[in-house]
Amino acid sequence: MLAHVDMDAFYAAVEVLDRPELAGAPVIVGGGARGVVSAASYPARAFGVRSAMPLFEARRRCPQGIFVPVRMERYRQMSRRVMEVLGGFSPLLEQVSVDEAYLDLRGTPVLKAGPAAAGAAIKEAVATATGLTCSVGLAPLRYLAKIASDRDKPDGLTVVADVEAFLATVTLKEVPGCGAKARERLGALGLGRLIELRALGRERLERLLGAFGLRLWDLAHGRDPAGVELEREIKSVSHEETFARDIADRAALAAHLLNLAEKVSRRLRRYGLAGRTVTLKLRHQDFRLVTRRQSLPQPSDVTQEIYQAARELLVAYAPRGPFRLIGLAVSGLEPAGGGQGGLFDRQEQAKAQALGRAEDLVCQRFGQDALRRAGGLAVLGQDTPTGHDEVGKK
Ligand SMILES: [Mg+2]
Repeated sequence: MLAHVDMDAFYAAVEVLDRPELAGAPVIVGGGARGVVSAASYPARAFGVRSAMPLFEARRRCPQGIFVPVRMERYRQMSRRVMEVLGGFSPLLEQVSVDEAYLDLRGTPVLKAGPAAAGAAIKEAVATATGLTCSVGLAPLRYLAKIASDRDKPDGLTVVADVEAFLATVTLKEVPGCGAKARERLGALGLGRLIELRALGRERLERLLGAFGLRLWDLAHGRDPAGVELEREIKSVSHEETFARDIADRAALAAHLLNLAEKVSRRLRRYGLAGRTVTLKLRHQDFRLVTRRQSLPQPSDVTQEIYQAARELLVAYAPRGPFRLIGLAVSGLEPAGGGQGGLFDRQEQAKAQALGRAEDLVCQRFGQDALRRAGGLAVLGQDTPTGHDEVGKK
C-alpha cells in the first residue's frame, strides 16, 4: 500500500499559521519576478484564484484578497518538519516537491490497523507537529494514490480499496500527465474516463499519443510500474552500547552483541528490510574505533544469522580488548523476502523470520526487556549501558 501525502494550499497555510488573524481570509501568496500566484488559500480559491495565475488577474477576481510575498525559506523549514514526520512512518519516502511525498507503507506498523487508520494517523501526526493539514491518498498503485489524495481536498483522506471500482471513477483530467492536448484528442473520440481507453485498443492509443498512449494503456488497466523511488533510502541500521565499565571478557561482549543483534534485526523487520553486510564496531579504551565487516550469503533480517556473523568478527578481534563500546550495523539493504537461496534455506529462513516476528509482537506489547534469549541474559543485572540507535541515510 502506497500513500501520497499532499499539504493543503501549503504556502498560504503556512502564512495563516504564522498570522492566525488571517484564518478564513482569502490569502494569496505571490509576487516576485514572474508576478504570478504561488498559492491561494481555499477562501481565495472560492473567488476563482488559482496557482500560476497573473497577480493582476487574481486582484481583479478577488479585490479583497490579502496579498503576501513568498517566503520560501520559511516554507522549506516547515517542509523539512513535515518530511521528518512522514519519514517516521516508513523509511521508503520519496519527496516529490516541497509539499508532497510518497510513502511505501508495506510492512510498516502503522498499516497494521488498516489503510484508513494509517492515513488518519499520518494526518494527525503532521497536524500535531506542524499545525497544518494535508490530504492523503492510499492505494496499491502510485498514480492511484496521487489521484486519491486529490479527491477529498482539503484535509482529505481517500483509500482505494478496490482498484477496479476506483478506476471506473477516474476521469482523464485526474490522470497525472494527461494534459489539455491529450484530453482534447481523446475527447474528440468521446472518451472522458480512464477505463474507456480500454475499448480503444493499445495500437490506436499509441498512434494517437505515442509513448504516452502506451502509458495510458497501462494506467487504464491498473498497471503502474513506478513505485516509491528510494530517494532517502536507508543505507544501514545500527545499534551500539557504551559500557559503564570497559569490558574485556569475550562472553560478556558476546552477550552484549546478541542484544544488539536482536535490536537491529527487529528494526530491519519493522522496516521490511534485509541486509547483506554485517559490521562490528569496537572502541578501545583509548577511544580508537575499529570496524570489521563481513558479508552474509544472502540478505537477512534474522537475529541468529546476523549475530553469528558479528560473533565471528568479535571472536577474531576480542583478544585486543578491553573495550568501552560495542556496536553492530547491517548494511547493503534491500526489501526483505527477495533471497536467492534454495528451497530448504528459504524454509529455514521463513521459520526464523516467523519466530522473529512473534518476538517483535511480544516486545511491542510488553517492552524490549520482556524477551531475551538465553545468551543475552548474562548482561542483565550489570550496569545498564547507554544505548544509541542510528538509521544511516545517504
Ligand atoms: Mg499541495
